[in-house]
Amino acid sequence: MNSKLIKNITIIDPSQDEPLDNRSILVKNGKIVAIDKATCIDIDDGCEIIDGEENFILPGFIDMHVHLMANGFLFEDAMNNPLAIHFYKALKNMKDTIDAGVTYVRDCGLADIGVKLAQKKGMFLAPKMKISVMPLSISRGHFDFKLNSGFDMVMNYPGLPHPVCNGVEGVITKTREVLGSKADFIKVMTTGGVVSINDSPEFTQFNRRELKAIVSEAKMRGNTKVSAHAHGSGGIENAVKAGIHFIEHGTYINKKIAKLMADEGTYLVPTRLVISETKKNAEKGKLKKDLSKKAMEVSKFHKENMGMAYNEGVKMLMGTDSGVIEHGQNLKELKLLCEIGMEPMEAITSGTIEAAKSMEIDNEVGSIAIGKSADMIMTDKNPLDDISYLGDSNNILMVFQDGKIVKNRFN
Ligand SMILES: [Zn+2]
Repeated sequence: MNSKLIKNITIIDPSQDEPLDNRSILVKNGKIVAIDKATCIDIDDGCEIIDGEENFILPGFIDMHVHLMANGFLFEDAMNNPLAIHFYKALKNMKDTIDAGVTYVRDCGLADIGVKLAQKKGMFLAPKMKISVMPLSISRGHFDFKLNSGFDMVMNYPGLPHPVCNGVEGVITKTREVLGSKADFIKVMTTGGVVSINDSPEFTQFNRRELKAIVSEAKMRGNTKVSAHAHGSGGIENAVKAGIHFIEHGTYINKKIAKLMADEGTYLVPTRLVISETKKNAEKGKLKKDLSKKAMEVSKFHKENMGMAYNEGVKMLMGTDSGVIEHGQNLKELKLLCEIGMEPMEAITSGTIEAAKSMEIDNEVGSIAIGKSADMIMTDKNPLDDISYLGDSNNILMVFQDGKIVKNRFN
């Protein structure tokens, strides 16, 4: 049986001005084929009927910044865990992501083509994904995990290129190598970071010539987009001026760069959640001393600067950096986006249709519309009245992915 009617629900969707109450959605072969009052929809014999009991249904969310294969980037794990352990742990990470209401992700580093293919084949429960495989880093930059001893702690196995590259020729070669590993987009570290061992978030990494070379190489190969991990203003500005499409984190953004991003249409993925959760962990003494110091420093500026960028009209998308922090709390980001100025519907839009548009997959996902994949979530309170409600995965009662029920706490 390949059809389902979900009836008696209120649809909250970014493509609608108002919630649509008392509606039904007909799903066939994984796609939405009708949305109407129940009496107006013809169903086949054997169609499964789900009574939504006046609950609320939204599109499945798209998290623009996760690391499905990561669990805190701990060196103890890198040193002690056999490779297979990382993959088995990732199965839980992916299930937790689905349970949180996220049906599609953009993986910003470490998920390879094998993970993506296995998801496509339905071998385990996981969000659909776009992958960057391995981010590009300069020597001793944010993704060079070489210790002072000379030991290299980076994840390394066939199919996963080493992250380090330098100079125009070097970055072109690495971009080709990463695209050859079937990356959907290129991720590049244009500043240091909080979890890096060799640098600090404000440090500029790669020069503008190198970044331009990456952008033009990626463009030449299937119009591939580039995303930059960037905290410091120098690294953000270099990335934007080199034509990079997405800025991740953006901590020390200033007004001049925000205006430039608004003009260029560069997306900002603020990842408020990783900043606020890392600060909480630092306060609880859960982080190593140097990491804790960096986390506290970054959190001092982040919220205010994101508010400024929002007011300047920078396009923002929902992303969490789950993997640096615990998986499965992704939709907590929505409330944090509201705290920098968004209305609840705007935050939902940034994690659904806008995210889909930014990856040019809006003909497939991102809203509840006829012809799109039936990726949807159900909850029992109107999230427009309390957006924080979606942040607790217990409140996500059902999750549908391509029409399949992949989570059911409801009946
Ligand atoms: Zn990240």
